[in-house]
Amino acid sequence: MEAQTGILTVVSGFSGSGKGTIMKRLMEKYPQNYALSISATTRAPRPGEEDGREYFFRSVEQFEEMIEKDELLEYARYVNNYYGTPKSYVQEQLAKGKDVILEIEIQGALKIKEKYPDTVLLFVTPPNFEVLKNRLVGRATESPQVVHERLCRAGEECAGVEAYDYLIVNDELEACVEQVHSILQNEHTKIFRNEGFINQIKAELADYAKGE
Ligand code: ADP
Ligand code: 5GP
Repeated sequence: MEAQTGILTVVSGFSGSGKGTIMKRLMEKYPQNYALSISATTRAPRPGEEDGREYFFRSVEQFEEMIEKDELLEYARYVNNYYGTPKSYVQEQLAKGKDVILEIEIQGALKIKEKYPDTVLLFVTPPNFEVLKNRLVGRATESPQVVHERLCRAGEECAGVEAYDYLIVNDELEACVEQVHSILQNEHTKIFRNEGFINQIKAELADYAKGE
């Protein structure tokens, strides 16, 4: 059977819904299955974030140079900063058969789906608005003004949710991580993702019927 290439998956969701936390746990539990793309951004690092681990932190000039050189699979502006997905890592990991996860906002997600229609799109929400606000404020990484801007942006992002394939309600973390893992494992069993296998068995059956 031909080696399957990996599945490209996009995870989006409101700021503070818990995307980062879910992805971190998924990678801890299943490091062999998944590769998490590291984006480039012009936003400043939060305390504890490291260049090359959470993001590649870049100046606006450096980011615009990456755009010009066509080094990004997609990019978007989000609350006054650029964010983008470097191409090379994603392409290398997919070719190795890893499922690659992009944790990106909705404009980028839609661009990826247009370029790569087989992409699986997951949308993460908290159980309700109150929890979202509490998580975002509780994370204590943004000023009240930026929290406000991110909550307003969440309202806009909601309008695009119909383009997504799966809704992930992040209430209890471990259950949520298992849900994401089983969705992605089930994706591998879809018929259109197994053409090599199907063609091989078809050929074997045809040979049998011819008496070979
Ligand atoms: P995002 O990446 O979507 O902006 P984070 O992963 O940073 O969100 O999560 C926002 C805050 O909510 C963090 O402080 C995180 O620890 C907390 N959090 C995430 N998931 C859960 C959960 N299932 N239960 C309780 N708190 C959570
Ligand atoms: P944060 O500043 O909270 O890390 O991220 C802000 C938003 O930018 C989140 O919705 C996150 O998913 C999104 N984001 C992160 N990296 C990328 C990227 O490479 N491209 C796009 N389009 N969005 C991204």
